[in-house]
Amino acid sequence: MRDYDLIVIGAGIIGASCAERALADGRRVAIVEADVAGGGVTAASMGHLVAMDDDPAELALSRYSIRLWDAFEGLEQAEYRRCGTLWVAADGDEMAAVPAKVARLAAAGIRAEALDAAQLREIEPQLAPGLAGGMLVPGEGVLYPPRAVDWLMGRCRVAGATVVRRRALRLLREGVELDDGSVLRGQVLVAAGSASPVLLPELPMHLRRGHLVVTDRHPALVRHQVLELGYADSAHGDAEVSVAFNLQPRPTGQLVIGSSRERSASGPEVHPPVLARMLERAFRYLPALRALQATRVWTGQRPCTRDGRPYIGAVPGRVGCWVATGHEGLGVTAALGTARLLLDLFDGRAPEIDPSPYDPARVAA
Ligand SMILES: Cc1cc2nc3c(=O)[nH]c(=O)nc-3n(C[C@H](O)[C@H](O)[C@H](O)COP(=O)(O)OP(=O)(O)OC[C@H]3O[C@@H](n4cnc5c(N)ncnc54)[C@H](O)[C@@H]3O)c2cc1C
Repeated sequence: MRDYDLIVIGAGIIGASCAERALADGRRVAIVEADVAGGGVTAASMGHLVAMDDDPAELALSRYSIRLWDAFEGLEQAEYRRCGTLWVAADGDEMAAVPAKVARLAAAGIRAEALDAAQLREIEPQLAPGLAGGMLVPGEGVLYPPRAVDWLMGRCRVAGATVVRRRALRLLREGVELDDGSVLRGQVLVAAGSASPVLLPELPMHLRRGHLVVTDRHPALVRHQVLELGYADSAHGDAEVSVAFNLQPRPTGQLVIGSSRERSASGPEVHPPVLARMLERAFRYLPALRALQATRVWTGQRPCTRDGRPYIGAVPGRVGCWVATGHEGLGVTAALGTARLLLDLFDGRAPEIDPSPYDPARVAA
């Protein structure tokens, strides 16, 4: 006998989004969270909602998801701001890649425009002189990830979710055993972020650590979220340590500065050499940052799969077991699209985007 239609393990941005969607579909849902909802890597992230176009599957999921975020009523409760994304080209080579990016985004239905050096300085005058130009994606924005989870969990509670503050110890056939020995019966969705392999060791994952810095308040310094065009090389490359300029204005007037990626590092400690490298990179693009006061520095561990694509779907070889994890640096962006895709598969509906690139069965194959 089933207690629930779906038991969601993990209340990060992915689990909360999936639970919210399942409840909207009229399902009986339990959410099992070992700690504070939204307190995992979600709380450590920047919260940009950005379409990445380097991999077609990543573009399909991020575009789909951003559309769902845009249509989500009440998004201001997640401190959402449509500030637009400004991609900056450091030199002629990066600028030469812009028309192809604009075309790829346009083909996916996303408006983007190329900017020359003068236009770039006109819209963000604090950027360093000598940059070659860039690309503006005006429809994109930023939210505050812990608030987004709080808001989604509030919706889940109102819709009748059972929220269990326990650690899931072991998956059963259509059920889960918790750390107090109790058992919940129903189909299970593992959305436990970087801890997912504890429950699903057959789906390999690794972590990529990132540093972020937040400054005191300087509301007029930049208006857009600003990323260097080389960001994708850092996000998708396999360097042991990489940094990329990534700056985000918060509604409070604070600026969040990123980003770094470390392949082998684990644990929450700040690594001063990596932090220094990341900040030097940021100062090169926006020299005025050098004079600001940092109020906090922190790290988070991005959950990654081998091919960089998340696992979304039924877990092969298990009965009544689903997974949604491994979104690396794009889990906030991709959360609502992931939830819709997962629930379409769960309910046997035809998904709006091709689910095969994210199918966990690719690992078994
Ligand atoms: C520095 C940095 C910046 C980032 N910036 C962005 C960004 O700007 N935009 C973007 O889209 N993405 C960004 N990301 C990526 C994003 O943070 C992640 O992809 C996303 O938050 C993953 O969410 P999740 O729900 O899978 O994991 P989590 O948020 O870690 O949630 C998993 C939850 O599961 C719980 N849990 C684990 N094991 C169990 C268990 N056995 N039983 C019960 N509960 C369990 C945990 O307590 C946790 O709450 C960034 C990441 C980092 C590190």
